[in-house]
Amino acid sequence: MPVVSVSMPTELIERLDAHAAEHDYTGRSEVVREGARALLTEFDDDRLEDSSLAGVISVFYDFGTRHVERRVTELRHEHNDHIASNDHSHVDDYCVDLFVLEADLEDISTFVGKLRAIEDVEAVDYSLVPLESMNQLQDA
Ligand SMILES: [Zn+2]
Repeated sequence: MPVVSVSMPTELIERLDAHAAEHDYTGRSEVVREGARALLTEFDDDRLEDSSLAGVISVFYDFGTRHVERRVTELRHEHNDHIASNDHSHVDDYCVDLFVLEADLEDISTFVGKLRAIEDVEAVDYSLVPLESMNQLQDA
């Protein structure tokens, strides 16, 4: 297996090591491999492919982090065709952008991935709702 070197903050390394110890992993490499697999397969869901989805996405970052605000605004413009709404709020010491998207799984996956890739974003969470199944529930 090839060996790669990855730079990461000391705190994250410590958390990886603690996670490895608590869950009986052989070491931090196994935790990183598992995390990479989970990330790459996160949006692999045959049930949701080719469905029209509503995605609710929240993005947390430190208050007034200009480069994050700028990038979030760029992404809002790039993905404008799928964004039904966007709201910017302040919670504790954080800026929170809340997006509602109407899109397919691939578009939502791309949008979430780009948000996560912004340096200094603290958290990106989302929920997905298949619109067809909601219609079926209403008709029943
Ligand atoms: Zn703000």
